[in-house]
Amino acid sequence: MNRTDLLEQLSAQTFDLLVIGGGASGSGVALDAASRGLKVALVERYDFAEGTSSRSTKLIHGGVRYLEIAVKTFDRVQLNLVRDALHERSIMLKNAPHLSRPLWLLTPLYKLWETPYYYTGLKIYDLLSGRAHLNPARYVSAKETLERFPAVQSAGLKGAVAYQDGQFDDARFNLELALTALQQGATVLNNIEVTGLLKRENRLVGATVKDRLSGKELEVGAKVVVNATGPFSDHIRRLDDPATPQLVKASSGIHIVLDKKYSPPDTGLLIPHTEDGRVVFVLPWLGGTLVGTTDDPAPLSDHPRATEDEITYVLRQVRPYLGDIPREAVRSAWSGLRPLVSRPDADTAKLARDHLIQESPSGLLTLTGGKWTTYRKMALDLVNYAVKRFGLPAGETRTEQIPLLGGQGFDPAGAQRLKERGFPSDIAEHLHHSFGAKAPEVAQIATNGYKERLAAGWPYLEAEVLYSTRQEMAQTPLDILARRTRLAFLDTLAALAAVPRVSELMAKELGWSSEETARQEEAAKAQILNAI
Ligand SMILES: Cc1cc2nc3c(=O)[nH]c(=O)nc-3n(C[C@H](O)[C@H](O)[C@H](O)COP(=O)(O)OP(=O)(O)OC[C@H]3O[C@@H](n4cnc5c(N)ncnc54)[C@H](O)[C@@H]3O)c2cc1C
Repeated sequence: MNRTDLLEQLSAQTFDLLVIGGGASGSGVALDAASRGLKVALVERYDFAEGTSSRSTKLIHGGVRYLEIAVKTFDRVQLNLVRDALHERSIMLKNAPHLSRPLWLLTPLYKLWETPYYYTGLKIYDLLSGRAHLNPARYVSAKETLERFPAVQSAGLKGAVAYQDGQFDDARFNLELALTALQQGATVLNNIEVTGLLKRENRLVGATVKDRLSGKELEVGAKVVVNATGPFSDHIRRLDDPATPQLVKASSGIHIVLDKKYSPPDTGLLIPHTEDGRVVFVLPWLGGTLVGTTDDPAPLSDHPRATEDEITYVLRQVRPYLGDIPREAVRSAWSGLRPLVSRPDADTAKLARDHLIQESPSGLLTLTGGKWTTYRKMALDLVNYAVKRFGLPAGETRTEQIPLLGGQGFDPAGAQRLKERGFPSDIAEHLHHSFGAKAPEVAQIATNGYKERLAAGWPYLEAEVLYSTRQEMAQTPLDILARRTRLAFLDTLAALAAVPRVSELMAKELGWSSEETARQEEAAKAQILNAI
Protein backbone atom coordinates (compact mmCIF):
# COMPACT_ATOMS: atom_id res chain seq x y z
CA MET A 1 0.00 0.00 0.00
CA ASN A 2 1.46 3.40 -0.92
CA ARG A 3 1.66 6.56 1.18
CA THR A 4 -1.25 8.28 -0.61
CA ASP A 5 -3.57 5.37 0.19
CA LEU A 6 -2.38 5.26 3.80
CA LEU A 7 -2.99 9.01 4.18
CA GLU A 8 -6.46 8.57 2.80
CA GLN A 9 -7.14 5.79 5.31
CA LEU A 10 -5.87 7.99 8.10
CA SER A 11 -8.47 10.69 7.53
CA ALA A 12 -11.31 8.46 6.36
CA GLN A 13 -11.97 6.30 9.41
CA THR A 14 -12.36 6.35 13.15
CA PHE A 15 -9.75 4.12 14.72
CA ASP A 16 -10.02 2.07 17.90
CA LEU A 17 -6.47 3.18 18.76
CA LEU A 18 -4.36 6.06 17.50
CA VAL A 19 -0.75 5.48 18.55
CA ILE A 20 1.55 8.52 18.64
CA GLY A 21 5.25 7.62 18.26
CA GLY A 22 6.89 4.98 16.05
CA GLY A 23 9.67 3.86 18.40
CA ALA A 24 9.81 0.40 19.97
CA SER A 25 6.91 1.10 22.35
CA GLY A 26 4.47 2.59 19.82
CA SER A 27 5.29 0.08 17.08
CA GLY A 28 4.90 -2.73 19.60
CA VAL A 29 1.46 -1.41 20.61
CA ALA A 30 0.39 -1.12 16.95
CA LEU A 31 1.40 -4.72 16.25
CA ASP A 32 -0.25 -6.12 19.37
CA ALA A 33 -3.49 -4.21 18.79
CA ALA A 34 -3.75 -4.82 15.02
CA SER A 35 -3.09 -8.54 15.41
CA ARG A 36 -5.93 -8.70 17.96
CA GLY A 37 -8.35 -7.33 15.36
CA LEU A 38 -8.45 -3.68 16.45
CA LYS A 39 -8.52 -0.81 13.96
CA VAL A 40 -5.18 0.92 14.56
CA ALA A 41 -3.30 3.95 13.28
CA LEU A 42 0.37 4.60 14.12
CA VAL A 43 1.96 7.97 13.35
CA GLU A 44 5.63 8.83 13.73
CA ARG A 45 6.75 12.43 13.25
CA TYR A 46 10.16 11.56 11.74
CA ASP A 47 11.29 8.06 10.79
CA PHE A 48 10.60 4.84 12.68
CA ALA A 49 13.24 4.51 15.44
CA GLU A 50 14.62 7.99 14.75
CA GLY A 51 14.43 8.67 18.50
CA THR A 52 15.86 6.55 21.30
CA SER A 53 15.03 3.22 19.69
CA SER A 54 17.90 3.35 17.16
CA ARG A 55 20.40 4.57 19.77
CA SER A 56 20.47 1.71 22.29
CA THR A 57 23.35 -0.61 23.29
CA LYS A 58 21.61 -3.23 21.12
CA LEU A 59 21.45 -5.79 23.92
CA ILE A 60 18.41 -7.99 24.44
CA HIS A 61 18.88 -8.52 28.11
CA GLY A 62 17.47 -8.90 31.57
CA GLY A 63 20.08 -6.41 32.74
CA VAL A 64 22.90 -7.81 34.86
CA ARG A 65 23.27 -4.39 36.49
CA TYR A 66 19.63 -4.41 37.61
CA LEU A 67 20.15 -7.95 38.87
CA GLU A 68 23.08 -6.73 40.98
CA ILE A 69 20.91 -3.95 42.47
CA ALA A 70 18.08 -6.43 43.10
CA VAL A 71 20.31 -8.93 44.91
CA LYS A 72 22.06 -6.26 46.97
CA THR A 73 18.77 -4.73 48.10
CA PHE A 74 16.76 -8.01 48.34
CA ASP A 75 14.26 -6.43 45.95
CA ARG A 76 11.81 -9.04 44.62
CA VAL A 77 10.10 -6.60 42.27
CA GLN A 78 13.42 -5.91 40.56
CA LEU A 79 14.18 -9.63 40.37
CA ASN A 80 10.82 -10.22 38.68
CA LEU A 81 11.62 -7.47 36.17
CA VAL A 82 14.87 -9.21 35.27
CA ARG A 83 13.05 -12.56 34.97
CA ASP A 84 10.32 -11.05 32.72
CA ALA A 85 12.92 -9.38 30.51
CA LEU A 86 14.78 -12.70 30.14
CA HIS A 87 11.53 -14.30 28.99
CA GLU A 88 11.10 -11.49 26.43
CA ARG A 89 14.71 -12.05 25.33
CA SER A 90 13.84 -15.55 24.15
CA ILE A 91 10.76 -14.31 22.25
CA MET A 92 12.74 -11.62 20.41
CA LEU A 93 15.41 -14.14 19.43
CA LYS A 94 12.71 -16.54 18.18
CA ASN A 95 10.58 -14.03 16.25
CA ALA A 96 13.41 -12.16 14.53
CA PRO A 97 16.12 -14.79 13.98
CA HIS A 98 17.64 -12.67 11.19
CA LEU A 99 18.00 -9.46 13.23
CA SER A 100 19.11 -10.95 16.55
CA ARG A 101 21.57 -13.47 17.92
CA PRO A 102 22.88 -14.81 21.21
CA LEU A 103 26.21 -13.19 22.10
CA TRP A 104 28.91 -14.30 24.56
CA LEU A 105 30.04 -11.63 26.99
CA LEU A 106 33.17 -11.85 29.11
CA THR A 107 33.58 -10.08 32.44
CA PRO A 108 37.36 -9.89 32.81
CA LEU A 109 38.67 -10.34 36.36
CA TYR A 110 41.91 -8.88 37.67
CA LYS A 111 41.35 -9.72 41.36
CA LEU A 112 40.78 -13.37 42.28
CA TRP A 113 38.42 -12.54 45.13
CA GLU A 114 35.99 -11.00 42.63
CA THR A 115 35.42 -14.34 40.92
CA PRO A 116 32.77 -15.83 43.29
CA TYR A 117 30.85 -12.51 43.25
CA TYR A 118 30.46 -12.34 39.46
CA TYR A 119 30.15 -16.10 39.00
CA THR A 120 27.31 -16.38 41.54
CA GLY A 121 25.59 -13.31 40.11
CA LEU A 122 25.63 -14.66 36.58
CA LYS A 123 24.45 -18.08 37.78
CA ILE A 124 21.43 -16.34 39.37
CA TYR A 125 20.89 -14.68 35.97
CA ASP A 126 20.82 -18.18 34.41
CA LEU A 127 18.38 -19.40 37.04
CA LEU A 128 16.05 -16.44 36.50
CA SER A 129 15.92 -17.15 32.76
CA GLY A 130 14.32 -20.56 33.53
CA ARG A 131 13.26 -22.27 30.33
CA ALA A 132 14.24 -19.17 28.34
CA HIS A 133 17.94 -19.82 29.04
CA LEU A 134 20.81 -19.55 26.58
CA ASN A 135 24.15 -21.28 27.29
CA PRO A 136 24.95 -21.26 31.03
CA ALA A 137 27.49 -18.86 32.52
CA ARG A 138 30.92 -20.31 33.27
CA TYR A 139 34.36 -19.37 34.56
CA VAL A 140 37.07 -19.16 31.91
CA SER A 141 40.84 -19.10 32.53
CA ALA A 142 43.08 -16.13 31.72
CA LYS A 143 44.47 -18.08 28.75
CA GLU A 144 41.02 -18.76 27.31
CA THR A 145 39.96 -15.14 27.96
CA LEU A 146 42.87 -13.91 25.86
CA GLU A 147 42.16 -16.44 23.12
CA ARG A 148 38.54 -15.34 22.96
CA PHE A 149 39.13 -11.60 23.32
CA PRO A 150 42.74 -10.87 22.27
CA ALA A 151 42.47 -7.07 22.74
CA VAL A 152 41.94 -7.32 26.52
CA GLN A 153 44.85 -6.26 28.77
CA SER A 154 46.77 -9.40 29.76
CA ALA A 155 48.85 -8.00 32.67
CA GLY A 156 47.37 -9.27 35.93
CA LEU A 157 44.40 -10.96 34.23
CA LYS A 158 43.10 -13.81 36.40
CA GLY A 159 40.28 -15.04 34.16
CA ALA A 160 36.73 -14.06 33.27
CA VAL A 161 33.13 -15.07 33.77
CA ALA A 162 31.47 -15.77 30.43
CA TYR A 163 27.70 -15.48 29.98
CA GLN A 164 25.27 -15.04 27.11
CA ASP A 165 22.72 -12.38 26.27
CA GLY A 166 20.99 -11.37 23.04
CA GLN A 167 22.13 -8.72 20.55
CA PHE A 168 20.15 -7.10 17.74
CA ASP A 169 19.87 -4.37 15.13
CA ASP A 170 17.51 -2.04 16.99
CA ALA A 171 16.47 0.28 14.12
CA ARG A 172 15.71 -2.55 11.70
CA PHE A 173 13.86 -4.49 14.42
CA ASN A 174 11.78 -1.35 15.05
CA LEU A 175 11.10 -0.88 11.33
CA GLU A 176 10.00 -4.50 10.97
CA LEU A 177 7.68 -4.14 13.96
CA ALA A 178 5.99 -1.22 12.18
CA LEU A 179 5.87 -3.09 8.85
CA THR A 180 4.47 -6.22 10.53
CA ALA A 181 1.78 -4.06 12.15
CA LEU A 182 0.98 -2.74 8.65
CA GLN A 183 0.79 -6.31 7.39
CA GLN A 184 -1.66 -7.07 10.22
CA GLY A 185 -3.94 -4.27 9.01
CA ALA A 186 -2.73 -1.18 10.90
CA THR A 187 -2.44 2.19 9.11
CA VAL A 188 1.22 3.02 9.69
CA LEU A 189 2.92 6.24 8.59
CA ASN A 190 6.19 8.03 9.23
CA ASN A 191 6.70 11.81 8.85
CA ILE A 192 3.31 12.51 10.42
CA GLU A 193 3.46 14.71 13.50
CA VAL A 194 0.71 15.07 16.07
CA THR A 195 0.22 18.80 16.61
CA GLY A 196 -2.96 18.85 18.70
CA LEU A 197 -5.53 16.64 20.41
CA LEU A 198 -9.24 16.65 19.62
CA LYS A 199 -11.76 16.60 22.46
CA ARG A 200 -15.52 16.28 22.73
CA GLU A 201 -17.13 16.89 26.14
CA ASN A 202 -13.67 16.69 27.74
CA ARG A 203 -12.94 13.25 26.26
CA LEU A 204 -10.27 12.67 23.61
CA VAL A 205 -11.69 11.74 20.23
CA GLY A 206 -8.56 11.96 18.06
CA ALA A 207 -5.74 14.26 17.03
CA THR A 208 -4.74 16.84 14.47
CA VAL A 209 -1.66 15.82 12.53
CA LYS A 210 0.67 17.41 10.03
CA ASP A 211 2.19 15.56 7.10
CA ARG A 212 5.81 16.75 7.24
CA LEU A 213 6.35 15.83 3.57
CA SER A 214 3.46 17.85 2.09
CA GLY A 215 2.79 20.31 4.93
CA LYS A 216 -0.91 19.29 4.90
CA GLU A 217 -2.87 19.10 8.13
CA LEU A 218 -5.61 16.61 8.82
CA GLU A 219 -7.76 15.24 11.62
CA VAL A 220 -7.64 11.63 12.77
CA GLY A 221 -10.58 10.22 14.74
CA ALA A 222 -9.94 7.60 17.42
CA LYS A 223 -11.72 6.06 20.39
CA VAL A 224 -8.44 5.86 22.33
CA VAL A 225 -5.23 7.87 21.91
CA VAL A 226 -1.93 6.31 23.02
CA ASN A 227 1.05 8.51 23.78
CA ALA A 228 4.21 6.47 23.08
CA THR A 229 6.57 9.35 22.45
CA GLY A 230 9.34 8.27 24.85
CA PRO A 231 11.30 11.25 26.14
CA PHE A 232 8.66 13.55 24.57
CA SER A 233 5.73 12.09 26.53
CA ASP A 234 5.22 15.29 28.49
CA HIS A 235 4.83 17.32 25.26
CA ILE A 236 1.82 15.25 24.26
CA ARG A 237 0.51 15.21 27.83
CA ARG A 238 0.64 19.02 27.79
CA LEU A 239 -1.31 19.17 24.52
CA ASP A 240 -3.98 17.37 26.55
CA ASP A 241 -3.58 19.44 29.73
CA PRO A 242 -1.07 22.33 29.76
CA ALA A 243 -0.93 22.23 33.57
CA THR A 244 -0.04 18.55 33.96
CA PRO A 245 3.13 17.99 36.04
CA GLN A 246 6.30 16.47 34.57
CA LEU A 247 6.31 12.67 34.37
CA VAL A 248 9.40 11.83 32.34
CA LYS A 249 13.05 12.75 32.84
CA ALA A 250 15.56 12.39 30.03
CA SER A 251 18.94 10.81 30.62
CA SER A 252 21.51 10.79 27.85
CA GLY A 253 23.54 7.74 26.92
CA ILE A 254 26.24 7.92 24.29
CA HIS A 255 28.08 5.24 22.32
CA ILE A 256 31.23 5.38 20.27
CA VAL A 257 32.08 3.04 17.40
CA LEU A 258 35.63 1.82 16.78
CA ASP A 259 37.22 -0.45 14.20
CA LYS A 260 36.30 -4.13 14.33
CA LYS A 261 39.87 -4.98 15.40
CA TYR A 262 38.96 -4.04 18.99
CA SER A 263 36.56 -6.98 19.37
CA PRO A 264 36.25 -10.50 17.96
CA PRO A 265 33.11 -11.05 15.84
CA ASP A 266 31.21 -13.15 18.36
CA THR A 267 32.25 -12.06 21.87
CA GLY A 268 31.81 -8.84 23.83
CA LEU A 269 33.18 -7.47 27.11
CA LEU A 270 31.26 -6.33 30.13
CA ILE A 271 33.39 -3.84 32.05
CA PRO A 272 31.87 -4.25 35.50
CA HIS A 273 32.70 -0.94 37.17
CA THR A 274 33.36 2.50 35.77
CA GLU A 275 34.65 5.48 37.76
CA ASP A 276 31.03 6.40 38.56
CA GLY A 277 29.92 2.89 39.54
CA ARG A 278 28.26 1.80 36.31
CA VAL A 279 28.99 -0.78 33.63
CA VAL A 280 30.30 -0.29 30.09
CA PHE A 281 30.05 -2.74 27.20
CA VAL A 282 32.53 -3.32 24.36
CA LEU A 283 30.62 -5.22 21.68
CA PRO A 284 31.18 -6.46 18.15
CA TRP A 285 28.34 -4.99 16.08
CA LEU A 286 27.76 -5.11 12.33
CA GLY A 287 31.44 -4.92 11.44
CA GLY A 288 32.46 -2.35 14.06
CA THR A 289 33.08 -2.26 17.81
CA LEU A 290 30.38 -0.55 19.84
CA VAL A 291 31.38 0.94 23.21
CA GLY A 292 29.05 2.48 25.77
CA THR A 293 27.20 3.84 27.47
CA THR A 294 26.83 6.85 29.78
CA ASP A 295 23.94 7.98 31.98
CA ASP A 296 23.57 11.71 32.62
CA PRO A 297 20.56 13.98 33.05
CA ALA A 298 20.06 15.81 29.76
CA PRO A 299 17.83 18.41 28.12
CA LEU A 300 15.28 17.23 25.56
CA SER A 301 16.48 17.33 21.98
CA ASP A 302 15.13 15.78 18.77
CA HIS A 303 18.64 14.80 17.72
CA PRO A 304 20.85 14.71 20.84
CA ARG A 305 24.58 14.89 20.28
CA ALA A 306 27.51 13.07 21.92
CA THR A 307 29.79 15.71 23.44
CA GLU A 308 33.60 15.61 23.43
CA ASP A 309 33.53 15.22 27.23
CA GLU A 310 31.30 12.18 26.95
CA ILE A 311 33.51 10.63 24.26
CA THR A 312 36.61 11.22 26.41
CA TYR A 313 34.82 9.68 29.39
CA VAL A 314 34.03 6.47 27.46
CA LEU A 315 37.60 6.16 26.17
CA ARG A 316 38.85 6.61 29.75
CA GLN A 317 36.60 3.83 31.07
CA VAL A 318 37.91 1.25 28.63
CA ARG A 319 41.58 2.22 29.04
CA PRO A 320 42.31 -0.22 31.94
CA TYR A 321 40.89 -3.06 29.82
CA LEU A 322 41.88 -2.24 26.23
CA GLY A 323 44.76 0.23 26.70
CA ASP A 324 44.97 3.69 25.17
CA ILE A 325 42.63 4.26 22.25
CA PRO A 326 43.25 7.56 20.44
CA ARG A 327 40.35 9.95 19.77
CA GLU A 328 40.98 9.56 16.01
CA ALA A 329 40.02 5.88 16.31
CA VAL A 330 36.41 6.90 17.01
CA ARG A 331 34.54 6.46 13.70
CA SER A 332 31.17 7.57 14.92
CA ALA A 333 29.58 8.75 18.17
CA TRP A 334 25.92 9.25 18.93
CA SER A 335 23.59 9.88 21.81
CA GLY A 336 20.16 8.63 22.83
CA LEU A 337 17.75 9.86 25.48
CA ARG A 338 16.33 7.38 27.98
CA PRO A 339 12.75 8.11 28.88
CA LEU A 340 12.86 7.61 32.64
CA VAL A 341 9.74 7.87 34.72
CA SER A 342 10.66 10.57 37.18
CA ARG A 343 9.99 10.32 40.84
CA PRO A 344 10.83 13.18 43.15
CA ASP A 345 14.37 13.12 44.55
CA ALA A 346 15.42 10.12 42.48
CA ASP A 347 18.78 10.10 40.76
CA THR A 348 18.31 9.01 37.08
CA ALA A 349 20.90 6.22 37.40
CA LYS A 350 18.89 4.57 40.17
CA LEU A 351 15.43 4.77 38.64
CA ALA A 352 14.23 1.31 37.66
CA ARG A 353 13.66 0.79 33.93
CA ASP A 354 10.17 -0.52 34.52
CA HIS A 355 7.29 0.85 32.50
CA LEU A 356 4.31 2.93 33.32
CA ILE A 357 0.79 3.26 31.92
CA GLN A 358 -0.88 6.49 32.91
CA GLU A 359 -4.42 7.61 32.05
CA SER A 360 -5.31 11.29 32.02
CA PRO A 361 -8.81 12.56 32.94
CA SER A 362 -9.61 12.96 29.21
CA GLY A 363 -8.51 9.36 28.49
CA LEU A 364 -5.01 9.89 27.05
CA LEU A 365 -2.99 6.71 27.71
CA THR A 366 0.73 7.36 28.15
CA LEU A 367 3.07 4.38 27.89
CA THR A 368 6.63 5.08 28.88
CA GLY A 369 9.73 3.86 30.71
CA GLY A 370 10.69 0.20 30.30
CA LYS A 371 13.40 -0.86 27.91
CA TRP A 372 13.75 -2.19 24.37
CA THR A 373 13.80 -5.80 25.54
CA THR A 374 10.40 -5.43 27.19
CA TYR A 375 8.61 -3.56 24.36
CA ARG A 376 6.26 -6.53 23.70
CA LYS A 377 5.23 -6.89 27.34
CA MET A 378 4.75 -3.11 27.60
CA ALA A 379 2.59 -3.16 24.48
CA LEU A 380 0.38 -6.00 25.59
CA ASP A 381 -0.10 -4.45 29.05
CA LEU A 382 -1.17 -1.20 27.37
CA VAL A 383 -3.57 -2.90 24.94
CA ASN A 384 -5.04 -5.06 27.74
CA TYR A 385 -5.61 -1.90 29.75
CA ALA A 386 -7.27 -0.08 26.83
CA VAL A 387 -9.46 -3.05 25.95
CA LYS A 388 -10.71 -3.43 29.51
CA ARG A 389 -11.08 0.24 30.27
CA PHE A 390 -12.76 1.32 27.02
CA GLY A 391 -14.49 -1.94 26.03
CA LEU A 392 -12.62 -2.34 22.74
CA PRO A 393 -13.50 -5.46 20.69
CA ALA A 394 -10.14 -7.28 20.82
CA GLY A 395 -9.07 -10.94 20.85
CA GLU A 396 -6.22 -12.36 22.94
CA THR A 397 -2.67 -11.14 22.37
CA ARG A 398 -0.80 -13.19 19.74
CA THR A 399 2.54 -11.44 19.47
CA GLU A 400 4.47 -14.22 21.17
CA GLN A 401 3.74 -16.28 18.05
CA ILE A 402 4.07 -13.63 15.32
CA PRO A 403 7.47 -13.54 13.59
CA LEU A 404 8.52 -10.18 12.23
CA LEU A 405 8.36 -9.74 8.46
CA GLY A 406 11.83 -11.05 7.60
CA GLY A 407 11.38 -13.87 10.11
CA GLN A 408 8.35 -15.23 8.25
CA GLY A 409 9.60 -18.21 6.22
CA PHE A 410 13.16 -17.48 7.36
CA ASP A 411 15.69 -19.88 5.86
CA PRO A 412 18.68 -20.36 8.20
CA ALA A 413 20.78 -21.34 5.16
CA GLY A 414 19.84 -18.12 3.31
CA ALA A 415 23.34 -16.63 3.44
CA GLN A 416 24.83 -19.79 1.92
CA ARG A 417 22.32 -19.63 -0.95
CA LEU A 418 23.34 -16.03 -1.71
CA LYS A 419 27.00 -17.05 -1.71
CA GLU A 420 26.14 -19.81 -4.20
CA ARG A 421 24.55 -17.10 -6.39
CA GLY A 422 27.93 -15.35 -6.47
CA PHE A 423 27.52 -12.71 -3.74
CA PRO A 424 30.71 -12.08 -1.72
CA SER A 425 30.58 -13.58 1.74
CA ASP A 426 30.25 -10.30 3.71
CA ILE A 427 27.39 -9.12 1.47
CA ALA A 428 25.59 -12.47 1.62
CA GLU A 429 25.79 -12.50 5.44
CA HIS A 430 24.65 -8.88 5.66
CA LEU A 431 21.64 -9.31 3.33
CA HIS A 432 20.62 -12.49 5.14
CA HIS A 433 20.83 -10.91 8.59
CA SER A 434 19.25 -7.56 7.67
CA PHE A 435 16.39 -8.74 5.47
CA GLY A 436 15.88 -12.39 6.47
CA ALA A 437 13.24 -13.96 4.24
CA LYS A 438 13.19 -10.77 2.11
CA ALA A 439 16.91 -11.00 1.23
CA PRO A 440 16.30 -12.76 -2.13
CA GLU A 441 14.15 -9.76 -3.24
CA VAL A 442 17.01 -7.36 -2.49
CA ALA A 443 19.47 -9.74 -4.16
CA GLN A 444 17.29 -9.73 -7.29
CA ILE A 445 17.45 -5.92 -7.51
CA ALA A 446 21.23 -6.16 -7.09
CA THR A 447 21.46 -8.68 -9.90
CA ASN A 448 19.43 -6.33 -12.11
CA GLY A 449 22.20 -3.73 -12.10
CA TYR A 450 22.49 -2.38 -8.56
CA LYS A 451 25.16 -4.55 -6.97
CA GLU A 452 27.73 -1.79 -6.31
CA ARG A 453 28.64 -1.09 -2.68
CA LEU A 454 27.51 2.23 -1.21
CA ALA A 455 30.85 2.57 0.62
CA ALA A 456 34.15 0.75 0.22
CA GLY A 457 34.70 -1.89 2.88
CA TRP A 458 31.04 -2.02 3.91
CA PRO A 459 28.53 -4.61 2.69
CA TYR A 460 25.67 -2.18 1.94
CA LEU A 461 24.48 -2.23 -1.69
CA GLU A 462 22.81 0.23 -4.05
CA ALA A 463 19.99 -2.32 -4.34
CA GLU A 464 19.06 -1.64 -0.71
CA VAL A 465 18.34 2.01 -1.50
CA LEU A 466 15.80 0.94 -4.11
CA TYR A 467 14.29 -1.81 -1.97
CA SER A 468 13.98 0.35 1.16
CA THR A 469 12.45 3.25 -0.79
CA ARG A 470 9.92 0.95 -2.45
CA GLN A 471 9.11 -1.44 0.40
CA GLU A 472 10.28 0.05 3.69
CA MET A 473 8.95 3.63 3.66
CA ALA A 474 12.40 5.27 3.45
CA GLN A 475 11.82 8.94 2.53
CA THR A 476 15.24 10.58 2.95
CA PRO A 477 18.88 9.64 2.37
CA LEU A 478 19.37 9.53 6.13
CA ASP A 479 16.54 7.02 6.53
CA ILE A 480 18.70 4.76 4.34
CA LEU A 481 22.09 5.61 5.82
CA ALA A 482 21.14 5.65 9.51
CA ARG A 483 18.27 3.22 9.96
CA ARG A 484 17.73 0.91 6.90
CA THR A 485 21.50 0.39 6.67
CA ARG A 486 23.44 1.43 9.81
CA LEU A 487 26.37 3.09 8.04
CA ALA A 488 25.97 6.52 9.69
CA PHE A 489 26.07 4.85 13.12
CA LEU A 490 29.14 2.82 12.18
CA ASP A 491 31.31 5.19 10.18
CA THR A 492 30.57 8.90 9.79
CA LEU A 493 33.01 9.53 6.93
CA ALA A 494 31.86 6.53 4.90
CA ALA A 495 28.23 7.63 5.36
CA LEU A 496 29.04 11.20 4.25
CA ALA A 497 30.76 9.88 1.14
CA ALA A 498 27.72 7.74 0.29
CA VAL A 499 25.19 10.59 0.52
CA PRO A 500 25.36 11.76 -3.17
CA ARG A 501 24.81 8.29 -4.65
CA VAL A 502 22.01 7.46 -2.19
CA SER A 503 20.32 10.80 -3.00
CA GLU A 504 20.67 10.19 -6.75
CA LEU A 505 19.10 6.74 -6.50
CA MET A 506 16.26 8.00 -4.29
CA ALA A 507 15.65 10.97 -6.60
CA LYS A 508 14.92 8.57 -9.46
CA GLU A 509 12.59 6.45 -7.34
CA LEU A 510 10.69 9.35 -5.80
CA GLY A 511 10.79 11.78 -8.74
CA TRP A 512 12.72 14.54 -6.93
CA SER A 513 13.68 17.66 -8.87
CA SER A 514 17.37 18.60 -8.96
CA GLU A 515 16.71 21.33 -6.33
CA GLU A 516 14.99 18.81 -4.07
CA THR A 517 17.83 16.31 -4.53
CA ALA A 518 20.40 18.96 -3.58
CA ARG A 519 18.31 19.94 -0.54
CA GLN A 520 18.03 16.32 0.59
CA GLU A 521 21.76 15.84 0.12
CA GLU A 522 22.64 18.89 2.21
CA ALA A 523 20.18 17.95 4.96
CA ALA A 524 21.61 14.42 5.21
CA LYS A 525 25.20 15.66 5.35
CA ALA A 526 24.38 18.23 8.01
CA GLN A 527 22.66 15.66 10.19
CA ILE A 528 25.47 13.11 9.85
CA LEU A 529 28.03 15.78 10.75
CA ASN A 530 25.88 16.72 13.70
CA ALA A 531 26.28 13.11 14.93
CA ILE A 532 23.05 11.76 13.35
C1 LIG B 1 21.93 4.91 25.58
C2 LIG B 1 20.80 3.92 25.70
C3 LIG B 1 21.08 2.56 25.67
C4 LIG B 1 20.04 1.65 25.79
N1 LIG B 1 20.34 0.31 25.68
C5 LIG B 1 19.37 -0.60 25.78
C6 LIG B 1 19.68 -1.97 25.58
O1 LIG B 1 20.80 -2.36 25.26
N2 LIG B 1 18.66 -2.85 25.73
C7 LIG B 1 17.40 -2.47 26.05
O2 LIG B 1 16.54 -3.34 26.22
N3 LIG B 1 17.07 -1.16 26.20
C8 LIG B 1 18.02 -0.22 26.05
N4 LIG B 1 17.71 1.12 26.15
C9 LIG B 1 16.32 1.52 26.36
C10 LIG B 1 15.52 1.58 25.04
O3 LIG B 1 16.30 2.05 23.98
C11 LIG B 1 14.30 2.47 25.23
O4 LIG B 1 13.60 2.06 26.38
C12 LIG B 1 13.34 2.40 24.04
O5 LIG B 1 14.02 2.58 22.83
C13 LIG B 1 12.26 3.49 24.19
O6 LIG B 1 11.40 3.40 23.09
P1 LIG B 1 10.17 4.38 22.95
O7 LIG B 1 9.38 3.91 21.79
O8 LIG B 1 9.45 4.47 24.25
O9 LIG B 1 10.80 5.82 22.68
P2 LIG B 1 11.42 6.40 21.32
O10 LIG B 1 12.23 5.40 20.60
O11 LIG B 1 12.09 7.68 21.63
O12 LIG B 1 10.16 6.66 20.40
C14 LIG B 1 9.31 7.77 20.57
C15 LIG B 1 8.94 8.29 19.21
O13 LIG B 1 7.92 9.25 19.31
C16 LIG B 1 8.10 10.17 18.26
N5 LIG B 1 7.34 11.40 18.53
C17 LIG B 1 7.61 12.33 19.47
N6 LIG B 1 6.70 13.33 19.41
C18 LIG B 1 5.84 13.01 18.40
C19 LIG B 1 4.69 13.65 17.85
N7 LIG B 1 4.27 14.83 18.30
N8 LIG B 1 4.04 13.04 16.82
C20 LIG B 1 4.45 11.85 16.34
N9 LIG B 1 5.56 11.20 16.84
C21 LIG B 1 6.23 11.77 17.86
C22 LIG B 1 9.61 10.37 18.24
O14 LIG B 1 10.06 10.91 17.01
C23 LIG B 1 10.11 8.97 18.51
O15 LIG B 1 10.43 8.26 17.33
C24 LIG B 1 18.72 2.08 25.99
C25 LIG B 1 18.44 3.45 26.02
C26 LIG B 1 19.47 4.36 25.84
C27 LIG B 1 19.18 5.81 25.81
